[in-house]
Formats: sequence, C-alpha cells, structure tokens
Amino acid sequence: MFVLAPVGQALDAERCFSSRVVLLVLAVHGRPQGARSCPQRSHRWPFRVRLHPVAPLTIADAPELRQLLLAWWQQHGRQAIPWKLRPDGSQPADGEPLDPYPIWIAEIMLQQTQLQVALPYWQRWMAVFPGVAALAAASEHEVLLLWQGLGYYSRARRLQQGARQLVGQPWPRDLAGWLALPGVGRSTAGSILSSAFDRPFAILDGNVKRVLTRLVASPKPPARDASRLWQHSEGLLDRGRPRAFNQALMDLGATVCTPRQPRCPECPWQRHCAAYAAGTPTAYPVKDTPREIPFQVIGVGVVLNASGQVLIDQRLNEGLLGGLWEFPGGKQEPGEAITDTITRELREELAIEVAVGEQLIVVDHAYSHKKLRFDVHLCRWISGEPQPLASQQVRWVEPAELQSYPFPAANARIIAALLQTEQSSAEAA
Ligand code: SF4
Repeated sequence: MFVLAPVGQALDAERCFSSRVVLLVLAVHGRPQGARSCPQRSHRWPFRVRLHPVAPLTIADAPELRQLLLAWWQQHGRQAIPWKLRPDGSQPADGEPLDPYPIWIAEIMLQQTQLQVALPYWQRWMAVFPGVAALAAASEHEVLLLWQGLGYYSRARRLQQGARQLVGQPWPRDLAGWLALPGVGRSTAGSILSSAFDRPFAILDGNVKRVLTRLVASPKPPARDASRLWQHSEGLLDRGRPRAFNQALMDLGATVCTPRQPRCPECPWQRHCAAYAAGTPTAYPVKDTPREIPFQVIGVGVVLNASGQVLIDQRLNEGLLGGLWEFPGGKQEPGEAITDTITRELREELAIEVAVGEQLIVVDHAYSHKKLRFDVHLCRWISGEPQPLASQQVRWVEPAELQSYPFPAANARIIAALLQTEQSSAEAA
C-alpha cells in the first residue's frame, strides 16, 4: 500500500502521518504495482520520510475527485430526498432555485438526526406548517408536540424564532443572512444555500467530517481540526454544481463511508484515500480520549390527587429538553433512599407533601453525555398547592390527556405504565 500525494504538491503532515503508518506494511510487502510516487524526493521509494511543517493542504487532484464523486452519485446517490426535488417530484436542473423553507426545516431536523428518522417528522411538519407564516403563527406547544421524539427540542423553538424573524422578509441569499437565524451554523447555512439556490458554499456536517478525515488520514480529532477540514471541503467543492456535489459528499458519508463498516471497495475515492491505503479506515476520525459518561438515578413521582388527576410540570426553556412537560422529581443524593429523594424533590420544587407509594416503572435512558435511570413511584398528594418553583408551570391533568402534551422520549414509557395500571385497576374494580 502507498499513500498517494497530489502530483506537483508536497506531502503535508497529515499525509506524512499516513506514510508512517503504511511504512510498516511496505517493509514487508514492498511497493505495490501501480502506486504513484510522491514528487517530493524525501518521500520517494525507497522512503526517507522527514516530517516537515504543515502547509495548508491543497488537493491538487480535486478535479478528478469531483468527477469520480459526481459520477458515483449519479448512479448510487440518494436522489429521492423530497426537499431536494421540485414540487412535482422531479429533479431540479443545475442552478434552478428550490423553495428554501422545506430545506431549512429538514436541515435543522438533520442536525443530530439521521435522514430516515427525520423524514416522517419532516412530512408531518410540512403538512401542519407548510410555510414560514404558519410556523410563525403557531403556539410553542403545537411546535413542541410535533417535534416530540426527535430530541434536542431547542431546535424546534429556534425554528419558530427563525420563522418569526423571516416572516414577510425575502429569503437570505448569503451566508450572513442565514447565520443570523437561531440554530443555523456555517455548515447548515452552506447546505441550505447550495441546496436551495445551487450557490457554491461548502458544508462540514458529521458525515462529511468523517469522509474528509479518512481521505487525508487526519491525525487529529475533527473538533480540533475544523479549519483544515473546512479548507478540504472548500477545496473539493464543485463550484459549477455545488448542490449536486454537496449532496454527493453527504451521501457518500451516509451510505458508503459509514462509521463502523465503510464499504471501501464500492467507494469512488478509494484510490485516493489515505485511510484506506493505511488499511485502517475505521481508525479515523481519530477520537479524543473518551470521557467517562456520568450515571445518575432520578427519583420521579407520578402524583395523583383524589380526583385521579396526575401532576405534571413544564421544564424551563433552557437546556436539552427545555419547554417539554415531565413528571416531577430530581437527582438521588448519595446514601438517600429513593422514596426520600422523591419526597424531598417534590417538596423543594413544588412545595407539596406526598405519600410515596409503590414503584411504577424503572426507565434507563442514555444521552450522549450522561446516562439516567428514572425510578418512578406512584404518589398520593397530601397537601400544598403545587407551585412552579423550578419549572415554568404545573398542571393537574386527566391521565388520558397526557398524550396531548409534549414529553421527552423517556416519559413515554412512564405514561404507558400509568395508563396500564389505571386500566388494570378499572378491570379489577
Ligand atoms: Fe471512506 Fe473507504 Fe472511501 Fe476512504 S475508501 S473515503 S475510508 S469508504
């Protein structure tokens, strides 16, 4: 195996890094047939590799990479993504503008979420909020309910804030205009501008980062190499067909250069790929030392009053699940019995006294940065008018009404367990 250097270009430190990896293989197997040699003398066969200061990477064979990628995409790309098509479902011509609204909604949904998961949400969203005016006029409750299950709920609130900024205005046609909207970063803005207007703006989403770090066998985690990855994305971009090129790059990452099992034999960039040449594609992107993910037990009270209504509260707008409804509770302190946790939390956060009863369910839920165990108990309300001391508002609702409130995903199992218990009690009575 051999790391290919762009003809007429010096190897930079990234490619030298790959060279060091493959040298061991070369020592055993020798230089393979057909491998191109590096024009830099110190890198020619037999190797005398010398690391030198990093120069900005220019991929001199970008034209060939573009051509290979677009030819692959024509045959194997995801051509039926609805927001990338004309209203009649046909492909737009190069340079033909598309409606930015469905693209903007999709791009925000696709932050943190895969296409096949986001697609039904996007379809429901477009049916309820077909344009900026409808979204701007909706209540936050409606917006969050439609987003329920997609996670990272601040995205939904920011979309609505953005709609209120945009209503009555022309669509932004430049980077600054899109970056002025909440929740829109450089990659999202580039993707919207290239998708909607076929304008030459690069992207750098998770899929693209993975492909590019493998292409050059970057020795750094993407988060610490962002400026160089942006250079690669800019340098590779086909300025004549930015919409098609960016989509092809995303499709390559989503369908071929996948995180765990890249299908390198099917990849149009295999001959140019340093990670493939090194024989270790899945070693890239290089990861930072993994942090230990904290684990926390949360005591949760499903509090019922004498009328059989259940108490829920709405989280503050800040944070991961901001604005969603939940059953009250909080973190278990070291050495504390879970029933004491629930009693204490409900007293501190709602100013109520309850009798903690039997366990309803235990739900484990993992976020990217923490793992939680919800130990949920049925509780009987004793005294105190519930106060929203740590939430936006509190409400007594009929159990059957719970479905009409937006809850975090972990709460769906609590609701199902409560309804099941209610049904069993009714049948037993
Ligand atoms: Fe990814 Fe393999 Fe293609 Fe390299 S050759 S870009 S690792 S799929």
